[in-house]
Amino acid sequence: MSTELTHPSIVDGWFREISDTMWPGEAMTLRVKKVLHAAKSKYQDVLVFESTDYGNVLVLDGAIQATERDEFSYQEMITHLALNSHPNPKKVLVIGGGDGGVLREVVKHKCVEEAVLCDIDEMVPEVSKLYLKEMKKGFEDERVTVHIGDGFKFLAEYKNTFDCIITDSSDPEGPAASLFQKPYFELLSDALTEKGVITTQAESIWLHLDIIKDLKKACKSVFPTVEYAYTTIPTYPSGQIGFMVCSKDPNATPKVPLRFFDDEENDKINKYYNKEIHSASFVLPTWARKALNEA
Ligand code: SAM
Repeated sequence: MSTELTHPSIVDGWFREISDTMWPGEAMTLRVKKVLHAAKSKYQDVLVFESTDYGNVLVLDGAIQATERDEFSYQEMITHLALNSHPNPKKVLVIGGGDGGVLREVVKHKCVEEAVLCDIDEMVPEVSKLYLKEMKKGFEDERVTVHIGDGFKFLAEYKNTFDCIITDSSDPEGPAASLFQKPYFELLSDALTEKGVITTQAESIWLHLDIIKDLKKACKSVFPTVEYAYTTIPTYPSGQIGFMVCSKDPNATPKVPLRFFDDEENDKINKYYNKEIHSASFVLPTWARKALNEA
C-alpha cells in the first residue's frame, strides 16, 4: 500500500490548475516530483508539492499561489510599488500573504519599523515554514508580528495606523471574496495614515477585465488616486498579474517612485523590481488601457 500523498488535481504526475470560473478553457500544468502536503484547513484546500522545474509550489483551492522559481516577481512588485510610492513608510500591514513572501520584501525597507501580517488560515504560514524556504524568511525579522484572522475583521480594529497596506489575497472566490468589495476599501482607507498607500492583488488583464473594472470603480469611490500596474509571472494564469495602487493623497503620482533603492543595492536585493520597471509596470496595452479608462 503506497503511503505517497496524492491530490485530485494531480493526474498522471502532472498538477492541473483548472477553474471553470476564473480561467475557463485553459489550465497551467506543472510536472510533480512529490506531494509534500495535502489537507483541508478550516477555510481552504491546502496543497504543497515539489515540482520538477519550479521548485516547491503552494496551491490553495486548486489555484497556484506561489512557486519558488517565480514568486519573486509578484512579491517584489506588489510590495515595492506600494512602499516606494509612500514618502516614509514606517508601519506596514499585509492582509493575506501567509506564505511570507511579501513580508520578506517589506522588511527590505530600512525605514519600516513595524510589519504586521493578518492571514485567515494558520495552515498557510505553517506549510510555508516547512516547505517554502525563501518565503518563510519574511517571518524571521524582529519587526514582524503575525495575526491569524479575517483581514476584513482585523482592519475594522484600526484607524489612522498604517502607512502602507498590501492585500496579498487569493482570488475573489472563497475566503478572499470580501477583499474585493467597496466596504473593504473603506476599511483600508480608515486604517491608513494621511498619505497612506495600498496595493492589492488585481488579477489579469487577459482574463479578468470585468473584475478589474469593478475593482477600480470600488477603489475610485474611496481613494483620490487609483492606478493599475502589472507584472509578468510564468505560473499565474496568462503569465501575468496586476495590482491596484491607490493613495489617500490626491497629489500622489504612484507611476513615478517617490523612493527607490540605489542601483547597486537594488541589484543586490531584488530580482525583478527596479525603478524603471516601477514606472513601466503602469503602461498598459491599448485594449486594456481603454477598458480601464471606462472604469
Ligand atoms: N500571491 C497570491 C496570489 O496572487 O493569488 C496570494 C498568496 S497568499 C498565500 C493568499 C493568502 O490570502 C492565503 O494565505 C489565504 O489564507 C489568505 N486569505 C484569503 N482570504 C483572507 C481573508 N479574508 N483574510 C485574511 N487572509 C485571507
